[in-house]
Amino acid sequence: MNNIEYCSRCILDSEVPGVKIENGICNQCKNFDEREKWFQESKEREVVFENLIKKIKEDGKNKKYDCIVGVSGGQDSSYTLYHAVKLGLRPIAVHFDNGWNSEQSIRNIKKIITKLGVDLYTYVVDWSEFKDLQVSFLKASVPDVEIPSDIGIKATLYRTAVKYGIKYILYSGSNYRTEGEIPKEWTYMDGRYIKSVQKIYGTKKLKTFPNVLAKDIFYFHVLKGVQIIKMLDYVEFGSNEVLDLLKQKFDWEYYGGKHFESVYTKFIQTYFLPEKFGIDKRKIHYSALIRSGQLNKEDALKKLEQKPYDEETIEEDKSYVLKKLKLSEKEFNQIMKLPIKSYKNYKTYDSYKQKYGKLIDFLKAKKLWPKIA
Ligand SMILES: [Zn+2]
Repeated sequence: MNNIEYCSRCILDSEVPGVKIENGICNQCKNFDEREKWFQESKEREVVFENLIKKIKEDGKNKKYDCIVGVSGGQDSSYTLYHAVKLGLRPIAVHFDNGWNSEQSIRNIKKIITKLGVDLYTYVVDWSEFKDLQVSFLKASVPDVEIPSDIGIKATLYRTAVKYGIKYILYSGSNYRTEGEIPKEWTYMDGRYIKSVQKIYGTKKLKTFPNVLAKDIFYFHVLKGVQIIKMLDYVEFGSNEVLDLLKQKFDWEYYGGKHFESVYTKFIQTYFLPEKFGIDKRKIHYSALIRSGQLNKEDALKKLEQKPYDEETIEEDKSYVLKKLKLSEKEFNQIMKLPIKSYKNYKTYDSYKQKYGKLIDFLKAKKLWPKIA
């Protein structure tokens, strides 16, 4: 009955939400080929990128900084910052400190900004409020438990942009060659979702947490003209070369896995999501690396056979996380057993998007609404 189809190229299958297999090839592989074709063959890319860099420099004349790069100490953001400076841009680095940084990631940030001579602004979140919000998302029994950090980062970038009159945020997330597309069912985010989950499960009001509501998106993009640029989609970018480059140039330290620069993210991706929801993001990530020739399929399948977490350290990681969130083992076990829910069980902007999708597409085409928000 249950006919799972497999992509013949990557390791995705039809059980991953949104993955459709046609003639043996999945839609993510197909999308990749189209983008890659544009990337390799189109002269347009270089022209578009050159003009963009020129424009950033021009608009930033007489300003202290001409662009912003969010930094986590991770690979992609470190490389984005390096590349921006190499192109002659004058970025300010912005870091959202949510209390979960690994020691390596903090050292990485410090090494890179020092060597590049870039200023760093760090926003330190109010821990008691943020902790409460993180626990609320765990209790909501949804896979989107990381969005308080993701939204907090975005808000901090936007606010810094407005503070310094900067128009360009160089965004390092979701590079199509190294990351692939995470299904909406695995990670959905918006500011209204944050508000509604906290209202139900929170014990504190969100007073200082930097949320991003629809009105904020309008303010930052339409009124203030802030743009988000996915710089890594324009440049040749291989995961292994980048690691070597960062290590050589900055004595940068690897932390053992995609997005493991945060202790919480590591725990969520390797334990919480696979054990509770059967979500293994390595499938998406390895598939992206297979497509861009950075990993072969056999090795990926072998890696996938192993548990996503390190069996020797997982208990330690778990007790660290629980202690920090002030959750008992019993409370956490109850959370693990709660019936699974999704963003559809809560108030989000998604219903608006369904309703006003055409209007938003129109505004996007007129550049009145951001393509990434
Ligand atoms: Zn595929």
